[in-house]
Amino acid sequence: MDFKVAVIPGDYIGPEIVEQAQKVLDHVGKKFGHSFNYVEVDMGGVSIDKHGVPLTDEALETAKSSDAVLMGSIGGRVGVDSWYQLPPHLRPEAGLLAIRKGLGLYANLRPAYLYKELNSACPLKESVAEAGFDMIIVRELTGGLYFGERKTEEIDGVMTAIDTLKYTEDEIRRIAIKGFEIAMKRRKHVISVDKANVLDSSRLWRKIVEEVAKDYPEVTLEHMLVDNCAMQLVKDPAQFDVVITENMFGDILSDEASMITGSIGMLSSASLGAGKFGLYEPSHGSAPDIAGQNKANPIATILSAAMMLRYSFDLDKEADAIEAAVQKVLEDNIRTVDIMSEGMQLVGCKEMGDCICDRI
Ligand code: NAD
Repeated sequence: MDFKVAVIPGDYIGPEIVEQAQKVLDHVGKKFGHSFNYVEVDMGGVSIDKHGVPLTDEALETAKSSDAVLMGSIGGRVGVDSWYQLPPHLRPEAGLLAIRKGLGLYANLRPAYLYKELNSACPLKESVAEAGFDMIIVRELTGGLYFGERKTEEIDGVMTAIDTLKYTEDEIRRIAIKGFEIAMKRRKHVISVDKANVLDSSRLWRKIVEEVAKDYPEVTLEHMLVDNCAMQLVKDPAQFDVVITENMFGDILSDEASMITGSIGMLSSASLGAGKFGLYEPSHGSAPDIAGQNKANPIATILSAAMMLRYSFDLDKEADAIEAAVQKVLEDNIRTVDIMSEGMQLVGCKEMGDCICDRI
């Protein structure tokens, strides 16, 4: 099959890591008989330098007309890069917000997987790390507290701030469907996280999630209060498969879940919109401190490309092949500097890409 992929290399280590992900995709394509046609899109600092804005309308149109978007990372150093002397709506990060909005991406997927070869980086106690974990947090991205009405005003001489947490049943239904669809490709267990003992929005959340669950009889559904979920993530992370939750809870819980893996260079992510379309990117930033030195770990971007194959193109076998190759590289004691430990073989960004290709 043929796929059109919009590629956003971005800033600093962005181009280095995206190059490795494309190399791996091409390798998989050759092996399984697919071709990936790339069209490069400027975004972030590089777009400001070339076009004066972090994302042009043409760039957004190119992304929209592709089958999926693969991104490196954007942004630079505040106080150092001239991009940050511009007003906020013209800075690199504004490009990211604009593309997410322009592409209608409403579901954010953050997997947290603990490789047994890296479990010494896990900050949890040894017995918990040894049990391992493999979860994916599906966070609603465009509703809730971050997008509700807000104001700060003086009422009877007292400064008062108000934020509004609003969800419609349609917004809940579409994210719940994404969560259950993802669970069907995994261990078929959904934990829906809310605060239904207090919040009306959570009570509606729970009701709609239960309605959606009826269409997925193979998937087991459990509800968990958000405060309990925060505790369970550090006490027994192995119990989680797919977590679905609203925007702010997901923001906090997905960072907690990433932290317990201990390895930022390994964490992929995806943002999905209607249908199969999605934008895939590593969870980390543009790492200006190591850019241009062939030191960046490309694995998070390579695993993001694997997610693209699985969730946008339904190429599950091909995604499995990439994930297995990453696993094999770790078993073979090959490491980039961020995950290096004694007795391992240190390689650069490019060599890590080659080693993964060799194992596909
Ligand atoms: P960062 O994630 O770029 O770096 C934090 C630390 O982790 C650094 O020491 C870096 O060297 C290391 N690191 C990150 N990715 C790595 C990799 N693949 N391999 C090896 N080491 C890696 O976070 P930061 O320094 O706070 O942010 C730098 C820039 O990235 C900022 O402009 C920020 O706004 C931007 N950012 C962009 C995105 C995105 O594009 N979605 C996400 C987060 C941050």
